[in-house]
Amino acid sequence: MERLWGGVEGGGTKFHCVLGRETAGAEKPEIVDERIIPTTTPAETLGAVAGFFSQHQETHTLAGLGVACFGPVDLDPASPRYGFITTTPKPGWADCDVVGYLRSALNVPVAWETDVNGALIGERRWGAAQELRSAVYFTIGTGIGGGALVEGRPVHGLLHPEMGHLPITALPDVPPQSQQGGCPYHGEGCLEGVASGPALERRAGRPAAEIPTGDPIWEDEARYLAYAAVVATLMLSPQRVILGGGVVLKQPHLYPRIRAHFLSILNGYLQHPAITERIETYIVPPQLGHRAGVYGALALALDAAGERS
Ligand code: ADP
Ligand code: ZN
Repeated sequence: MERLWGGVEGGGTKFHCVLGRETAGAEKPEIVDERIIPTTTPAETLGAVAGFFSQHQETHTLAGLGVACFGPVDLDPASPRYGFITTTPKPGWADCDVVGYLRSALNVPVAWETDVNGALIGERRWGAAQELRSAVYFTIGTGIGGGALVEGRPVHGLLHPEMGHLPITALPDVPPQSQQGGCPYHGEGCLEGVASGPALERRAGRPAAEIPTGDPIWEDEARYLAYAAVVATLMLSPQRVILGGGVVLKQPHLYPRIRAHFLSILNGYLQHPAITERIETYIVPPQLGHRAGVYGALALALDAAGERS
């Protein structure tokens, strides 16, 4: 039977599942089927994910599955809770054994990463971070997350980076924080609390999609995201910063504004042509767009199989 690979991007609002085929000579796997499953309860959602892939197991060999998931997640292979979503405030999902469930339902090896490291792995393999050793990826959507690749490896560390909660609003020339913002832990005291789609909606009093391009809220948004890109750049020295997620992908006017704020905040400090001469190729959208996460999940599945063989 033909071998196919599964990729899942697990998000707080939807689980995006794809089935990929490796085709000789093709740049990236061909997506042969896909399904978007709403995130409800773990039993219902993971049951539907398993159902999507198991229907194909009747006629194909599912060779492996990669899962890039919202978190916080446990990535430590030595931990008894490896493969779990751990402490999320999302009702029903705390202490959820995602990898264990899918592995036993489908009887296949399951590779596991954060959603944002997954998206970055997709971009490195087939998108905007090809050939790079170090890169950072932020997603700006319903929440905000950041992933990092340093010297070719996704950064995990103690738990994993949580760049969506950078306390950037404590920085100069950013409005003072309020407890009423979009983050349940930090109010308006963190990046997610001021710059996610729901945080924009809260401040503007209407959905982010309906805020006109000329509204000054977008200039604030660009400045918040520029601060985050500056922090990531100073901390990790990435060779590129990729900004994805619904908010920026649907508001492409943000990219030049973010680049301008980024340069102004750095104030000439980092003298490298990638920044001083080619900023438009330093802060970029994902080439894989909304599919960065699922392609990354497929790359994880392929890599895990390569390590075993
Ligand atoms: P998610 O983060 O839920 O996985 P997305 O990355 O697609 O998914 O982001 C969805 C968020 O993007 C929504 O919560 C909404 O606030 C925001 N959004 C949707 N459409 C637009 C738009 N046209 N402009 C700005 N923001 C938008
Ligand atoms: Zn926060």
